[in-house]
Amino acid sequence: MTGFAPVRGVDAGGAGGFAQAGMRVASHDVDTTHGPILYLEGVSVSFDGFKALDDLSLTIDDGELRCIIGPNGAGKTTMMDVITGKTRPDAGTAFFGQAIDLTKLTEAEIAHAGIGRKFQKPTVFEQHSVFENLELAMKADKRVRTVLNARLCSTDLDRIAETLALIQLRDQAGRPAGLLSHGQKQWLEIGMLLMQEPRLLLLDEPVAGMTDDESMRTAELCQSLAGRHSVVVVEHDMDFIARIARKVTVLHEGSVLAEGPMDAVQADPRVIEVYLGR
Ligand code: ADP
Ligand code: MG
Repeated sequence: MTGFAPVRGVDAGGAGGFAQAGMRVASHDVDTTHGPILYLEGVSVSFDGFKALDDLSLTIDDGELRCIIGPNGAGKTTMMDVITGKTRPDAGTAFFGQAIDLTKLTEAEIAHAGIGRKFQKPTVFEQHSVFENLELAMKADKRVRTVLNARLCSTDLDRIAETLALIQLRDQAGRPAGLLSHGQKQWLEIGMLLMQEPRLLLLDEPVAGMTDDESMRTAELCQSLAGRHSVVVVEHDMDFIARIARKVTVLHEGSVLAEGPMDAVQADPRVIEVYLGR
């Protein structure tokens, strides 16, 4: 997932200035001294002339928990694709902190710079234990040192224990991940992302297919992640959104239709029209 690929001609770096070409951007390079961790400005993406994103501007503050809602086809997943480098915008800018231009980095470089993305389908190593899954996720970011010295140090063990507690899988640590419920697998995958210490976490429909109880616990998890990480949650489940929402952004036809506290957004006639009208 993360490689040694050099940063190609990018002005990446933080308070210490610009990183030189050939240096990898690490998450401590993300400069948020001026507040936001993510800036999208005037982003447009077209597919065969159809504008999936249309002059989209959006700012996420450091440590914020932001919910993004919007009808099917509004551009939510495409927005995440732009942030993670999977799709290049035709126009506009996307910055991670003050100085990291996401449009110039590869997907692997963006992951290494500190943006973790959770896709809808859980992708855990089924035959490995929950503990081993977290261990593998941590090592994926350590490379040479752990290859040479495979033993876990006490700091590593502490981090795994802390993550197990956070994702509420402490009592499942020794079980093969394949035996977990769908919801537990989703939490494990979030835990695996956390082992890479991302600054920004993108969660695309995290409660899809979950039971009510699992969905409730996922809400708790999202809330405990905020502050330590910046979290962007895309979700259709309004009960879930209402439970965790602070600031909500409504996307429609590739740009921001409304933004604000959940009750204000829900009462906005334009939002009601988009969801209920037509
Ligand atoms: P959302 O996640 O909000 O449901 P998407 O970002 O997946 O919306 O899609 C936005 C629009 O862009 C949709 O109309 C979709 O059909 C279109 N779209 C997304 N990806 C592609 C693609 N790779 N090729 C063509 N059209 C696409
Ligand atoms: Mg989507």
